[in-house]
Amino acid sequence: MATKMSLLAFVDQAQQLPETRVAVVRKQDYKEIYGNFDSHMAAVQASRCSQCGVPFCQIHCPLGNNIPDWLKLTAEGRLEEAYEVSSATNTFPEICGRICPQDRLCEGNCVIEKGFESVTIGSIEKYITETAFQMGWVKTPKPAHENGMSVGIIGAGPAGLSAAEALRRKGYAVHIYDRYDRVGGLLIYGIPEFKLEKHIVERRRALLEKAGILFHLNIEIGRQTTLEALRSQHSAVLIATGVYKAREMDIPGNALAGVTPALDYLTASNRVCLGDTVKEYESGALNARDKHVVVIGGGDTAMDCVRTAVRQGAKKVTCLYRRDRTNMPGSAREVKNAEDEGVEFLWLSAPKAFIGTQKIENILATKMRLTAPDRSGRQNVTALGNAEFTLKADMAIAALGYDADNVPTAFGAPELHVSPSGTLAVNAVSQMTSLPGVFAAGDIARGASLVVWAIKDGRDAAEGIHTWVKTQSIDQEV
Ligand SMILES: Cc1cc2nc3c(=O)[nH]c(=O)nc-3n(C[C@H](O)[C@H](O)[C@H](O)COP(=O)(O)OP(=O)(O)OC[C@H]3O[C@@H](n4cnc5c(N)ncnc54)[C@H](O)[C@@H]3O)c2cc1C
Repeated sequence: MATKMSLLAFVDQAQQLPETRVAVVRKQDYKEIYGNFDSHMAAVQASRCSQCGVPFCQIHCPLGNNIPDWLKLTAEGRLEEAYEVSSATNTFPEICGRICPQDRLCEGNCVIEKGFESVTIGSIEKYITETAFQMGWVKTPKPAHENGMSVGIIGAGPAGLSAAEALRRKGYAVHIYDRYDRVGGLLIYGIPEFKLEKHIVERRRALLEKAGILFHLNIEIGRQTTLEALRSQHSAVLIATGVYKAREMDIPGNALAGVTPALDYLTASNRVCLGDTVKEYESGALNARDKHVVVIGGGDTAMDCVRTAVRQGAKKVTCLYRRDRTNMPGSAREVKNAEDEGVEFLWLSAPKAFIGTQKIENILATKMRLTAPDRSGRQNVTALGNAEFTLKADMAIAALGYDADNVPTAFGAPELHVSPSGTLAVNAVSQMTSLPGVFAAGDIARGASLVVWAIKDGRDAAEGIHTWVKTQSIDQEV
């Protein structure tokens, strides 16, 4: 029987997270590190919500999730309703519950955080959704009727999938094209298993397939077929191709063997976890076993790399970051997890050269110092004089972020406008690009961002597409 709690319990009930697997055990495998609440713990933790009049958690959620309401319903043991509320605004709450940087979004803005520590919103969201799956409350998103129109979506990442789900509900035939052999984009090939086990993504794929969404895998648009061909087949097209152009380090030695872009490394590791044979992993080129690994960068990708290297059996894993801990873009929770797993952080340190003959052997690095904030408010850095040092490295992984590939060129569509940073320019409300009937969503329109923003953009694009298609059919009638 479900526990029923009254609210505002944060005064007597301390914040408690689900059990976390201890570092010495969890670093032996790739399984998720957080457990799940039981119904009692979920109700107790949800009851800590103060139900504030202006819910900052909701305001700071890109999806505007009605968090106070589903916390209240969970505290009252009304879980099916809690799931209905939470899934009304979020296509993949079980994924956001696991990998949103809650410490920067909802939980970081919980008003009881000061002095009492925030409500554990992410873990409760995960609990509600896992319960919903177990209880059969998660339904296939089938439409009431087919509307006779079709939409082509390029990219099966979270932006493409959330748009597909919303469009299918409205009765469109939805075709998703992806160059990869699996559905999920970075949910499958970027984010490691210890943050998001792949069967969670597979479970959603199965539901979407059951709803009638058609996946065309191993098809690269721009290479095997054209954007124009898709435009002629479908009433509208959505580009949700993500951003994959890795930023490079323009320093001596960056072409040495053993200097690796982060996503190549993580994709290989994820493929191995999925049971694929990866040549570069077998040969050792993308395998950290017995190596001194240095990861350069301070974002979530860098944290994923250091923690993957630990699991692959690296001799030593070091993270080199040019700013300090406070100015790190990655989630504080992930830094703590990495530290617990034995990763060493060298703050205020940047590489100057990769050293070796054919293969990297060492990194020449320098200490940095923070300078005044720039116009964005972020502190800059500058190298300290006479503060160079050398670091042993058999493998250096560059995790410096991603830029958009040149979509107009790749797709042979110069009419597609891009922003100054190279992302596709879209209308802020409809997500339509400069090409009529062609929309864009997720990282390719926003720049490298978060899953929760990709979901929001996909949902917005579905609305934009629906409005546009309806307008077109009315115009044709008159
Ligand atoms: C290593 C890593 C870790 C991350 N960790 C987190 C995290 O913990 N939490 C979080 O919120 N966010 C995280 N992110 C960011 C998040 O994964 C992205 O913001 C999100 O996946 C973007 O979704 P998307 O649908 O726009 O693109 P993607 O997920 O990149 O999907 C794009 C899809 O388009 C396909 N595609 C590309 N070009 C073509 C083409 N020409 N033809 C056919 N298909 C094509 C790709 O194969 C891919 O499947 C992480 C990112 C990385 C790289």
